Amino acid sequence: SPQMRFILSWLIMFLSLKYTHIFPPPCNPLTPPPPSLSLQWEEISVMDERNTPMRTYQVCNVMEASQNNWLRTRHIARDGAQRVYIEIKFTLRDCNSLPGVPGTCKETFNMFYYESNNANLWFIKESQYIKIDTIAADESFTQVDVGDRVMKLNTEVRDISNLSKKGFYLAFQDLGACIALVSVRVFYKKCPLTVLNLAQFPDTVTGGDSALVEVRGLCVNASEEFEAPRMYCSADGGWLVPIGRCVCKPGYEEHKDFSCRPGSYKASATDAYCTKCPPHSSSHLERASECVCENGFHRAETDPRSMACTRPPSAPENTISTVNETCVTLEWSPPRDTGGRGDITYSLRCRKCSGDDIKCAPCGSGVHFVPRQFGLSVAMVMVTDLQPHSNYSFTIESLNGVSDLSPTPRGAVMVNVTTSQTVSVVLKERRSKDSITLAWQGPDRPNGAIVEYEVIYYEKNQREQNYTVLKTRSNVMTVDGLKPGTTYVSLFVSSSHPVSTYPLLAPQGLFFSYLCFVFKLPGSKTYIHPHTYEDPNQAVRDFAKEIDASSIRIERVIGAGEFGEVCSGRLRLQGKREIYVAIKSLKAGYSDKQRRDFLSEASIMGQFDHPNIIRLEGVVTRCKPVMIITEFMENGSLDTFLKKHDGQFTVIQLVGMLRGIASGMKYLSDMSYVHRDLAARNILVNSNLVCKVSDFGLSRVLEDDPEAAYTTRGGKIPIRWTSPEAIAYRKFTSASDVWSYGIVMWEVVSYGERPYWEMSNQDVIKAIDEGYRLPAPMDCPVVLHQLMLDCWEKGRSERPKFGQIVTTLDKLIRNPNVYILSCLPSREDPTTPEFSVSTVEEWLEAIKMGQYKENFSSAGYVTLDSVLYITISELVKMDVTLAGHQKKILSSVQSLQTQGTHVQV
Ligand code: AMP
Repeated sequence: SPQMRFILSWLIMFLSLKYTHIFPPPCNPLTPPPPSLSLQWEEISVMDERNTPMRTYQVCNVMEASQNNWLRTRHIARDGAQRVYIEIKFTLRDCNSLPGVPGTCKETFNMFYYESNNANLWFIKESQYIKIDTIAADESFTQVDVGDRVMKLNTEVRDISNLSKKGFYLAFQDLGACIALVSVRVFYKKCPLTVLNLAQFPDTVTGGDSALVEVRGLCVNASEEFEAPRMYCSADGGWLVPIGRCVCKPGYEEHKDFSCRPGSYKASATDAYCTKCPPHSSSHLERASECVCENGFHRAETDPRSMACTRPPSAPENTISTVNETCVTLEWSPPRDTGGRGDITYSLRCRKCSGDDIKCAPCGSGVHFVPRQFGLSVAMVMVTDLQPHSNYSFTIESLNGVSDLSPTPRGAVMVNVTTSQTVSVVLKERRSKDSITLAWQGPDRPNGAIVEYEVIYYEKNQREQNYTVLKTRSNVMTVDGLKPGTTYVSLFVSSSHPVSTYPLLAPQGLFFSYLCFVFKLPGSKTYIHPHTYEDPNQAVRDFAKEIDASSIRIERVIGAGEFGEVCSGRLRLQGKREIYVAIKSLKAGYSDKQRRDFLSEASIMGQFDHPNIIRLEGVVTRCKPVMIITEFMENGSLDTFLKKHDGQFTVIQLVGMLRGIASGMKYLSDMSYVHRDLAARNILVNSNLVCKVSDFGLSRVLEDDPEAAYTTRGGKIPIRWTSPEAIAYRKFTSASDVWSYGIVMWEVVSYGERPYWEMSNQDVIKAIDEGYRLPAPMDCPVVLHQLMLDCWEKGRSERPKFGQIVTTLDKLIRNPNVYILSCLPSREDPTTPEFSVSTVEEWLEAIKMGQYKENFSSAGYVTLDSVLYITISELVKMDVTLAGHQKKILSSVQSLQTQGTHVQV
């Protein structure tokens, strides 16, 4: 039967008559047998149906009333079971089948038990027994041949539960029936030993009163718990509700012979199968939990075991060094062999070399690396604060996650550079048609006393073959005999003595400073208006170089122009270094006129060649979109740049910017080009703070400039920047550009303040007409304001020419003590204040980058520690895209690294 299937172990306590004391030995004086327990149950041998002799206990005192005959088993050990089953087989005579029996004849008997720890009780009082049941024959008269009689064999099963003592005694009470007890089987049920989900559950005795027994399984060999395995053993011996499981240990799988074969592995305790060793690794033995890397290959601690073994990268390639005086930019391409990893970083070693036998020693802490020296994730670094006129050797090492594990030398490349220090030319003045006067400043930190300067110059197109050398001890030189309209390259060489040997003229002790300087003697060249061309495309062809679109890589959008987006990107022309460029594109759906106007900017710009005029690299007109490519100005437009850096520059720096703009404007006016929209928003600033005049489109004043307003005469004019005569009768000349230049001066010195603040255009026109002029901005040296006022002379011929403006500014720069520093404003305080900061917010505030607080916190940079190794690309990701801001943040990070939480601002 299904139930019997669960009876997996049973204990037969066959009631062997031999061992059953119906009457305990009478020798125990304390418990004499009660008189009622007479010898009524008899042990009798009979034959069963197969004629095998069998012993039965019988009682059949049906003829006498008041029967009370007891038959008792020996002590039956409980064996841990709480519930015990008793199966009895018996025959019971039907009273009716016995002739002449009185009414006292019974057809039932009672079954009792008594729990006890004592296995040797010979006497148990009737009242101590607990009744199990009254047993009646249900199958009367089953045919069993017992000798000459036919008997019926009954089988009854009862159970007793919640047993707790060592064992128990069973007893049968006859009250006057005719019974033959054939067998008594006592058993309990167990849940059998079983293995499920790789956990073994032991033989478990079922609980009492149908309670479930919770059993914890044990993981079988080579397996371990994934989740504690448990099951419940039910009262009828079945396992229920399996929970949890074990899984094969590393190196084993639940498959055939359980072990991973050579060449395969299993890294963790999971129910997955063994897998093939990843590339560059193998396992030679069975049961591998990981594969061993081949020679020369490694696995970093954090690499997953499933990852291929990797090796250190090869050396960086294509190193380019750009020396800018005492600052070197090193760039390189990533190693050809990455070693199979993506975590390449670079580290630099810097050594300073000297002497004929080239002795090199570590550079020490005075040299700074931007963004950092070690663990660089970009293939570029800027090294600053080098000594001038020195040789340096940089070793650029490429590293990855396994470099430290490899005993072989690392992929490294060496770059040698020589630093310089230049003189800076501050004045260039044309004396006559064929001569020019050059004046310059000596190097800031000469390596000794300057002995003399050499000026070497040659015509740009003639290369160096035909050069002239002039020598002077002073800082001024006039060069005669030049050809008008020709571009010259001049080289300044300053020779100086090392301080120790001064004043002896020992040639081996000379140091040289170089400055390469290009100047052009203005000749007859004037600007040609693109409208003078019948075919405007010809103007583009004449003045702008066609660039193949494939040499341009657009990287990101940096602004919006009148005709479409302005992007930044890179340009790599054959045989030239890759450079950063700005790319203006003409949006789709343009008309012919729009295309002409768009390209007119290129044909105008292409005619200019001056360090303070934005340089045209070329145009893309043969494919769409049509693009204008110019040099990239990292700091964007001047007005925004100044607003961002309010108060951060010295007056000399501001004057330097103004000098650049004036110089660019002088060049334009020399070429008879009138800009008409000179304003700080149309000046671009590069990473060296060089300002360049931009925005040359033909339509610009009319359409492009948001500041332009319609005048009563119909044109659109940027009122605040425009001279009265240009507003009144459109008299645009270089003199009106000078007026605008005065406004730009005011914008620069006031760090991007709006001219005339919130006054309306009408009020501005009226005020100017009544003689009102913008007052000096805060901290503005008197000389500068005077120059502005000169630019704003009502009579345009009274205004200075751009050439004079440049001269005036040069004078200021050369003699700052006289003109500027004598009225040193508070912003000129040369001491750099130090702040102690403890949070990212405080730090950003201290370095005046508070506007990025949210960018930092939402990118997860919440502690100062976390910003210590921030990179440019991370800054870009957080929208810190301005090169100046990036530089400021990174150089402050560097000082955080070296000086802890004292931040210089
Ligand atoms: P534009 O159409 O010339 O007024 O240019 C729109 C904006 O794009 C400017 O305000 C600048 O922010 C940016 N831009 C234009 N040209 C350059 C450049 N050469 N380098 C960097 N940014 C530029």
